[in-house]
Amino acid sequence: MDAFSTQAKVLIKTTDEAGRKKILDTLRDLCYSLESAQDSAQRIMYLQLQVAAVRIGCDLKLFNILAETPTPLTVDSLSKTTGAAPTLLESRVARILRYLASVGMIKETDKDTFTKNNITETFTNPGFQGGIYHYHDSIGPAITALPDFLKENNYQDITSVVHTPLQKAWNTDLPAFIWVQTKPENFAHFNQFMVAQRLGMPTWLDVYPYQHRAENLKPEQPFFVDLGGGLGHQSIALREKLPDLPNRIILQDIPATLEHAINHPGVEIVVQDFFQTQVIAGAKIYYMRNIIHDYPEDKAILILKNIIAALATDSVILIDDMVIPNSGAHWQATQIDLVMMISLASLERTKEQWHELLEKAGLKINNIYTYTASLQDSIIELVPPSAKAYAFRDAFIVFDASEKNTFYKGTYLPPQIQQSVSSDISRFAGVVLSKRVLDWVADAERHPPVLKSWDTFGERSDDLVTSEGWRKLQDLGVQEGIIAIAYEVNEGQYSRVYQFLKYHVFSGSSAYVICPSAMTDGAASLLLGHLKSNSLSASVRPILDSAFKCLISRDPAKAWTSGQWMTERKGGSDVSGTETIAVMADSPLKNSRGVDGSDLGPYSISGFKWFSSATDSNMSILLARSPNGNVSAFYAPMRRTVPWTTDAQTELNGIHIQRLKSKLGTRAVPTAELELKDMRGYLLGTEGQGIREIAVMLNITRVHNSVTALGFWGRGLAISKAFARVRNIGGKRLVHIPAHVMTMAEQEVEYRGYMQLTFFTVLLLGISEQGSSNASSERASAMAHGSLAKITPSFEDARLLLRVLTPVIKSLTAKAAIAGLSECMESLGGVGYLENDEMQFNIARLFRDASVLSIWEGTTDVMAMDVVKVLKGHSGVDVLRVLETWLMAAGDAAAHREWVRWAGKVKSEGLEELKVQGRQIMRELGKLVAGVLLQVDAERDGDEVAKEVSRRWIFG
Ligand SMILES: Cc1cc2nc3c(=O)[nH]c(=O)nc-3n(C[C@H](O)[C@H](O)[C@H](O)COP(=O)(O)OP(=O)(O)OC[C@H]3O[C@@H](n4cnc5c(N)ncnc54)[C@H](O)[C@@H]3O)c2cc1C
Repeated sequence: MDAFSTQAKVLIKTTDEAGRKKILDTLRDLCYSLESAQDSAQRIMYLQLQVAAVRIGCDLKLFNILAETPTPLTVDSLSKTTGAAPTLLESRVARILRYLASVGMIKETDKDTFTKNNITETFTNPGFQGGIYHYHDSIGPAITALPDFLKENNYQDITSVVHTPLQKAWNTDLPAFIWVQTKPENFAHFNQFMVAQRLGMPTWLDVYPYQHRAENLKPEQPFFVDLGGGLGHQSIALREKLPDLPNRIILQDIPATLEHAINHPGVEIVVQDFFQTQVIAGAKIYYMRNIIHDYPEDKAILILKNIIAALATDSVILIDDMVIPNSGAHWQATQIDLVMMISLASLERTKEQWHELLEKAGLKINNIYTYTASLQDSIIELVPPSAKAYAFRDAFIVFDASEKNTFYKGTYLPPQIQQSVSSDISRFAGVVLSKRVLDWVADAERHPPVLKSWDTFGERSDDLVTSEGWRKLQDLGVQEGIIAIAYEVNEGQYSRVYQFLKYHVFSGSSAYVICPSAMTDGAASLLLGHLKSNSLSASVRPILDSAFKCLISRDPAKAWTSGQWMTERKGGSDVSGTETIAVMADSPLKNSRGVDGSDLGPYSISGFKWFSSATDSNMSILLARSPNGNVSAFYAPMRRTVPWTTDAQTELNGIHIQRLKSKLGTRAVPTAELELKDMRGYLLGTEGQGIREIAVMLNITRVHNSVTALGFWGRGLAISKAFARVRNIGGKRLVHIPAHVMTMAEQEVEYRGYMQLTFFTVLLLGISEQGSSNASSERASAMAHGSLAKITPSFEDARLLLRVLTPVIKSLTAKAAIAGLSECMESLGGVGYLENDEMQFNIARLFRDASVLSIWEGTTDVMAMDVVKVLKGHSGVDVLRVLETWLMAAGDAAAHREWVRWAGKVKSEGLEELKVQGRQIMRELGKLVAGVLLQVDAERDGDEVAKEVSRRWIFG
């Protein structure tokens, strides 16, 4: 054994740090492999005891006393020196000492006599003592809480900094970093540990070429900015390596930490919260030691984004963190990783995860310098993307991943639901900006649909050929539940908010597959209404039920889309000119069925539909004159089986595609003129109620229209912001030119106002669909607190508010998005006008796609007429009463004054006079409601930006 031990010691002495760790691990594996079951169980079951015993040793200064005394000490003398009269030590058995010796922390030289060993020395270090206190006192309870925490949360990933085992253990709502500051002793131990954490290990300055980075600096260029640098150890270490360098070395942190910073003449101290935009622009190095690993993805991206805005072209960002190998990670690394999860909902990232995160943050890894063997501590050197296009693309990815999501984190979802949906939305934000999806968008744009009207033999074929990109994007929407979420209703009355948050993220990457999605949603809502009704006939019920299930399916192989055919040559706004005729068919098409095996329907429909945007859909809801001559709504499948064929061949259900429309935008959408000749279908509801039926669809599609407008505009704004960060004009980036920033800020205010207004309407839609039962509304109101409770109306009131606000958001958001996207295009100069293939920054596409939003689903004037009709119609008094109640509860005195003025005008003017002012009435109402919502949002968390946005929205 001695020879073996000597050999191991020699080996260790002659190898480097990585080799030493390898030998230790090999020996450990050897030991474990020799253990009996008893040995393993005994070793592992009592592990907690070791930390507790060392903490006691630290309390009693046992390690310091033993380390300072060259000769072994007896229990008696130890007891006297500690002066704490520890009976435990005085007892004959000296139990604590004996335990510590048995696990190798100290050495027993004789009966009741102990001395130091190498581990004893370790715990004389204040930093490691701090570590023991930190892990025992602060983290220990959280580790204990971990198993139950995971079980209670169905073993979901821990993603929220305020929902970790630490909060459970300490019964707090505060994030770990804030909580620890409320406990000064724990905070002191933590800081002590941070200083010593890597004591004796190589440092980043051993591997990183800082001398090289200090060459060729301009005199005014700051050299080193140490973000969240704590007491300043790294800044000081660097300054001491470069004492003669004239350029600034700057330590940054929050005031509470900087109070304790070490003063050094070569290190300047600047207050900086890294969640705010970096105040030192153009430094050579922005350094962060063990910062990013403390935060989940969205926060990490926000921190990086705040630096990106300050980067000069030759700047680098250094992330000093562990880079865990993709497999075979060291135990010292994995245990830190778990603690990050338990206390901070964060992680030590693998190489793969770093690449993923940094790509989302818009940064490119230039090099990775690894300086410790076990932890794989590394400097990840990031450079601003070399090509503008790269920076450009990535900076808006940042926007999508974090900023957009602030809306659901705020006012419109209760915390429980935020918790359950946020990771899905963030993940999806990454998916929609992935190369794969953007390539589909490019493909769909490059290959607009084509119509093959005739086959080789001159037979009419009406084959509609769509691109692969279009079809893949449709499948993506289906799989992601873009429609299904609203009908699965797992989030109760908040399901619509969840659905539309995903929809908002998707829109800019959808090549407009969301156009058929909107109609599909409208059709599903209409069919569901009929399926819930007792008056639906037994023969039609299974037909509608089958169609409904397909419309809300998440399986691309089963999922259907629906068209909505109202517009004829005589008019889209006014459907009273409908010429399409539906008659009872002379004979059923007995040998032909729908593709789902259903009967085709008793009505034969013939006419001409001037606009059909979902020509590749599986069904349609259409208007036609029923036998009594009135406009009625019909359901009809798009295709039917061909009789007498054996290979399940299908053909269009009495439809000829006359031609595809040539359009300014929506180029991937197959919009066609359709001739209907004996199309077979079913009457929906009663004859003559067509407009009422189609209104159900329109109420849904108009909300879609609004979210689409905001999705496009949000994407355009993100691109515009990204460009401002990289475009240099006269030696300054656009982001530092006040006039440019002012225009962007105006856009941002508008955008946020309309986001609030639209998502409030989405919330109303959810309540009006799900909030009717007492049980569900009680459950929902129990979840709504604070700002959400303040703005949430009752079920009855929500329906009236929804009725009046739907046309308001439809038209205002469309107009604002079109104007806004034009401004976004202009903010890029000539580049903004280009129709390039890189879909991630093609604003021109978004602009032309947005232009239709003020036309279809009702033009601006048609919406204004609708609002006026609601206000002056039979339910007008109720609508005004509900609006007033809501505004009085949620708004302030200024909002009340504006309400009195606006409502006074509405009440005093006649219908015809008010129609003339329709647009203005509508705009003022939207502005007022959005203003109140912005105020509520600003009050919610006191966010300064939200407050300023609210102020500017109101006062301009
Ligand atoms: C790309 C695209 C795809 C489309 N897809 C579909 C589809 O899938 N299904 C479908 O049914 N339709 C579709 N449409 C048609 C669309 O819904 C209509 O174009 C729209 O409703 C306007 O109707 P219209 O074209 O008949 O214009 P009109 O109704 O003739 O409008 C002309 C002008 O008159 C004004 N106007 C009309 N009525 C009033 C009024 N009462 N008071 C004041 N002003 C008024 C309008 O504001 C407009 O400025 C699509 C249109 C486009 C451009």
